[in-house]
Amino acid sequence: MWPALSPAVKKGGEALTYINNQHPSQLTLLTKYGDFLKMCACSAREGFQAVGVPDKAAHLMETYWSYLGGTEDQMDFFTMIVMLYNYLTQRPAMPAHKSHEMSLALVDSLYRHGGNIWYNCEVSQLLMDGQQVTGVIANGHEIHSHFVIADVSPTTIITKLLPKGVSAPKQNIKLTNARKFAYSLETMYIGLNKSAEELGIRDYSTFIVNDLDPVKQAAATSHNQKGTFIANCLNCFVPDASPKGTCTLFFTTMGDPKYWANLKPEEYFRAKNQRMKDWADHYERCTGIHIRPYIEEASFASDVTFARYLGTPNGSPYGYQIQRWDNIVPRLINMDKEQMFSHLEITGAAAENIDGYNCCYTNGFLHAQKVIKEAAQ
Ligand SMILES: Cc1cc2nc3c(=O)[nH]c(=O)nc-3n(C[C@H](O)[C@H](O)[C@H](O)COP(=O)(O)OP(=O)(O)OC[C@H]3O[C@@H](n4cnc5c(N)ncnc54)[C@H](O)[C@@H]3O)c2cc1C
Repeated sequence: MWPALSPAVKKGGEALTYINNQHPSQLTLLTKYGDFLKMCACSAREGFQAVGVPDKAAHLMETYWSYLGGTEDQMDFFTMIVMLYNYLTQRPAMPAHKSHEMSLALVDSLYRHGGNIWYNCEVSQLLMDGQQVTGVIANGHEIHSHFVIADVSPTTIITKLLPKGVSAPKQNIKLTNARKFAYSLETMYIGLNKSAEELGIRDYSTFIVNDLDPVKQAAATSHNQKGTFIANCLNCFVPDASPKGTCTLFFTTMGDPKYWANLKPEEYFRAKNQRMKDWADHYERCTGIHIRPYIEEASFASDVTFARYLGTPNGSPYGYQIQRWDNIVPRLINMDKEQMFSHLEITGAAAENIDGYNCCYTNGFLHAQKVIKEAAQ
């Protein structure tokens, strides 16, 4: 399959760069990037079937679907295949100090270029003059600026950040209502007083699924069913990630926002403790690796934890759910039409190039370029 698909995926990457550079011509897309459009127009399932990949093999290749937040019937073939292609050709990487190390590198670069960061500084409102954004209110102070790039969901802008009496254009309200929030997550972090080797953990990433079919995995995301359950052990990749003779495990599964939202405050900690016990049991049962006697520290993050710290709808780090009509290509092609207010750019996981670090960096770059162009006019 790869020798046949590889040139098409490479060319698709070129097409993506082309449409990220704004104002793509439909004629160029049709004449130069026909295969790309075909891959974007069909679902991942249809795409695999079209190139003759049996369902079982396709399901194995789709194991990483939860990282993109859409199953084979929800996602277009190009998004799925380009992720696989990048994994195979560029290989996955893990910074020794996790994603925090990437954040620190960005902070360093920003300072070197004369930028500034105000930590613990919440923007509570946009400042507006008619339909133009003119600044923000941050920590109670008015900050005026020519442009605002907001790393929040359009839903957050509409529901929380507009001045009293201002509402978003009707088409933006319709669009955000038509979109679905993407999957949220639950995570558990544990510190163990035995090394990975002693415990018998050999792989950085273990995917434990209830069924080979991603659609069935996604269907089993509520009521603690763990349709897809990921167990990561950083020590397998970065041996000194924790002191000698110890290791850490990091579990992730799909969230269950309704369950957490309906709990009473007094039930919350009991529910978290129960989840932690269930997860440790599930891991032991599925892998045969005993961890419970060696757990020294455990901490659990629910959808509510993510909502509190990220401030995103349902606590999802993935923005809006990828759907056949709402994925990278239509979002990029329509980005000018979907602009909510002038001098406001909305970036991050809910923006055009979807979620994940690399995609969010691309989104930030795209909107920064747009501001630079507009500012120069
Ligand atoms: C447990 C977990 C594991 C993940 N693993 C991976 C992975 O391995 N690879 C990968 O590519 N992606 C991964 N992701 C996804 C990735 O983290 C997100 O898609 C990405 O960080 C989203 O970027 P963002 O800029 O939209 O949001 P964020 O990274 O959340 O940044 C938004 C920032 O804005 C701040 N903010 C929000 N509202 C306001 C306000 N009103 N005023 C001021 N500041 C505000 C938030 O506090 C936050 O700091 C993971 C996510 C989670 C939760």
